[in-house]
Amino acid sequence: MAMEHKVGRQLFDEVMVPCYSPMQIVPVKGQGARVWDQDDREYIDFAGGIAVSCLGHCHPVMVNALKEQADKLWHLSNVMTNEPALRLAQKLTEHSFAEKVFFANSGAEANEAALKLARRYAADKFGPEKSEIISFQQGFHGRTFFTVTVGGQAAYSDGFGPKPGDVTHLVYNDLSTLAEHMSERTCAVMMEPLQGEGGIISPTQEFIQGVRELCDKHNALLIFDEVQTGNGRTGDFYAYQGLGVTPDILSTAKSLGGGFPIGAMLTTSELAVHLKVGTHGSTYGGNPLACAVAEAVVDEVTKPEVLDGVKQREQWFREGLAQINAKYPIFDEVRGKGLLLGAALNEEWQGRARDILLAAGEEGLMVLVAGANVVRFTPSLVIDKADIDEGMARLERAIAKLHQ
Ligand SMILES: *Cc1c(COP(=O)(O)O)cnc(C)c1O
Repeated sequence: MAMEHKVGRQLFDEVMVPCYSPMQIVPVKGQGARVWDQDDREYIDFAGGIAVSCLGHCHPVMVNALKEQADKLWHLSNVMTNEPALRLAQKLTEHSFAEKVFFANSGAEANEAALKLARRYAADKFGPEKSEIISFQQGFHGRTFFTVTVGGQAAYSDGFGPKPGDVTHLVYNDLSTLAEHMSERTCAVMMEPLQGEGGIISPTQEFIQGVRELCDKHNALLIFDEVQTGNGRTGDFYAYQGLGVTPDILSTAKSLGGGFPIGAMLTTSELAVHLKVGTHGSTYGGNPLACAVAEAVVDEVTKPEVLDGVKQREQWFREGLAQINAKYPIFDEVRGKGLLLGAALNEEWQGRARDILLAAGEEGLMVLVAGANVVRFTPSLVIDKADIDEGMARLERAIAKLHQ
């Protein structure tokens, strides 16, 4: 039985807005793929803070970058630029199609910038009629009012008054419906190049190529939300690089900072000119601390051994899950790419993803869900084989208990 701590989980209910329902444990420290709670219980982390802690907890390159920058300069505002932001922007352009970068503090903010750029570009170039944003059911793009409205779950945007208009939601991987629907009024198509929150759904090659072709045909911009898929998660630095389809605008966050809040919108010079002085901004966007950490993360993650290592680790995860499934049939399939994996529950276990998350927690393993029927794994990209094996042993124990 956990002892009561003065600053413990119970205080959450007293002083925090109840929009979350956190687990009972309160972690206090992390190292690599392991985390310890207030009672010094140790956990293996297969969740990575929802695809954020791409180098695990407290990786020395991140700690050093943060400490070094902490002694130099914390903040300026965008009245001036700063060295870490300039270096990071240059590196992001070197490692992607992009020529220009806008810094924000989160995925939602990066997407907000992407959507505003798309609308402004279409208005400048084609006129105010070209304002339709197309996105997909089950898609997730953040929680600002514009991005949550573009997201594909109405339940998340209902109940807050009038929504931003001219947003259409279609079915992911259904190219013919998109083809029928798109027109010269379409300003942009926003999509995840592998749906994360929506249940770990990969696009078919036909769909992703078809979307690009339809965007070209109708002079619409293609926006890839790579907030979850980006920064090495799928084994490429950005997922689009493994799909052979290049967007016009890309948003990135989560793993970009490895645990320090930062987001960015990447685009071409041709598009970027439409966000002239004064059209958009952020107080903290491009903050030197955030950019110094993200620069260290990008340097590390773009190493070929790290990206290749993701493919190796995907294999280890798939093998571990297959072994558990051979003993205790529970999954229909394991889907996704790299270290963005979803184990979809079979018929008998429908609706029980959260039970597995809680049972795993009891055994000292942190996992995630993606909806009610998918157990999601988004661990550190550099997690050790030994930690994967131990995590799988704990997952097996959790599932064995549920099986009884
Ligand atoms: C997490 C996520 C977001 C939102 O990012 P925040 O940093 O929470 O604003 C947007 N898009 C996708 C695909 C995500 O997974």
